Amino acid sequence: MTTDAPSVGPGPDAPPALAEYFAVRARVDEFAANAEAAQAQWLACGRGCDACCRVSRTAFGVELAALRAHVGQLPVSTQAALRARLADPEVVAGARCVFLDGDGACAVYAARPILCRTHGPLVFTEDGPSWCALNFATVPPAEVPALIAPGGALALARVDTLLAVVAARYRSQAGGPVRGPLTWALQPEGEAPWDDGQAG
Ligand code: SF4
Repeated sequence: MTTDAPSVGPGPDAPPALAEYFAVRARVDEFAANAEAAQAQWLACGRGCDACCRVSRTAFGVELAALRAHVGQLPVSTQAALRARLADPEVVAGARCVFLDGDGACAVYAARPILCRTHGPLVFTEDGPSWCALNFATVPPAEVPALIAPGGALALARVDTLLAVVAARYRSQAGGPVRGPLTWALQPEGEAPWDDGQAG
């Protein structure tokens, strides 16, 4: 079901913070691409590997709004098929993302949240270096960080901080939740997906 639909941008009446989110996302894509190029020889990431997607993921409200807008411009039949997945036992159990296709691809790849864009390669988090165990498989873990030159990995903690600021600005402009599950992005336009007591 993967669609080639490009991510929709903010409309003229969108809260200004939505445009800021798209700008942050574009910068993250740029940095992530550079980091992946720098680490390419050690990465097993590729289409069909869904190790990052076998979870129930959450995202900031601004990301859910962007994702929801993206879903809203897909063909009606595609939207219906995606919503049907809400009843998938694995999705209900939190064992797979609702947007994960059967072939391991992402059904909303162009509009996937920022966290999804950073998974796999080595990144620096508040707790230190982190990477998918499927990558750097031939290198002893203790030696992995030393392989990466300065600037060759994303500083995820800084991305998180920036995203949190944009998300708070969006929330002050448009309301909505602090965070929520990606399944909320499947609520039709006109329905508030966070009116279920889960809003943060
Ligand atoms: S949105 Fe796409 S990339 Fe992110 S967890 Fe879901 S299927 Fe994976």
